[in-house]
Amino acid sequence: MRDKIVAGNWKMNNDLAETEELLGKLKLQMVKEPEATVMVAPSFTNLYPTFQALKDTPVIVAAQNMHESESGAYTGEISAAMLKSIGVTTVILGHSERRAYFNETGEILAKKVKTAIENEMTVIFCFGEELEDRKNNRHFDLVEKQLKEGLFDLPQSSWKNIILAYEPVWAIGTGETASPEQTQEMHKHIRTLLNKNVGKEVADSTSILYGGSVKPNNAKEIFAKEDVDGGLIGGASLNAVDFVEIVNSF
Ligand code: PGA
Repeated sequence: MRDKIVAGNWKMNNDLAETEELLGKLKLQMVKEPEATVMVAPSFTNLYPTFQALKDTPVIVAAQNMHESESGAYTGEISAAMLKSIGVTTVILGHSERRAYFNETGEILAKKVKTAIENEMTVIFCFGEELEDRKNNRHFDLVEKQLKEGLFDLPQSSWKNIILAYEPVWAIGTGETASPEQTQEMHKHIRTLLNKNVGKEVADSTSILYGGSVKPNNAKEIFAKEDVDGGLIGGASLNAVDFVEIVNSF
């Protein structure tokens, strides 16, 4: 049985007061024991207050990024040890916005993943093709390349700490979702790649989330697909009612 997971990526939104307001609403809306594992990823400045506010709930608090080095002269960066010291043990790595705007290459991401695993953290590893790749029928190869660069050197034992998030770039924040059929087709392809490159056990047990304009009105249909184990939610996770409706869409 694979974990069902719904994770909210709050990106660079909400100051402290707005975060506290959202957390208050979230706690009111959420059922006590949701069927899915629920995660939220606030900005670095809001991580600790969010962790504190959700301490007595099942919601897991994740960081949106971290540096690949353990410590040192990296002005403006945050390490795994810093995250762990405030109770945060889950991190999103490889989001397409990090890849596109902050030049995070496959090589850098492989280092970040390695550091996270060495620190016994859980990684939500994001990847996905751009519109050009899909138009030119390169999407399967591109996804294979991203997984190979970031993850396929990991020993099998590390995979219990990996959650995959397939996020086609053309569907992020655009209101355009991959159809449930396109999503299932890609998720099946990913599982086949895991089987071939890592092993059957990992292929069968790794949760693969879909991300890209998931909303309350399309979550059920997407989550119902065989190889889709949940979602990474951007825009809709900033609204407590919408996010909780998505959480309850299994
Ligand atoms: P979106 O973002 O739901 O706003 O499309 C998804 C993401 O970037 O993880």
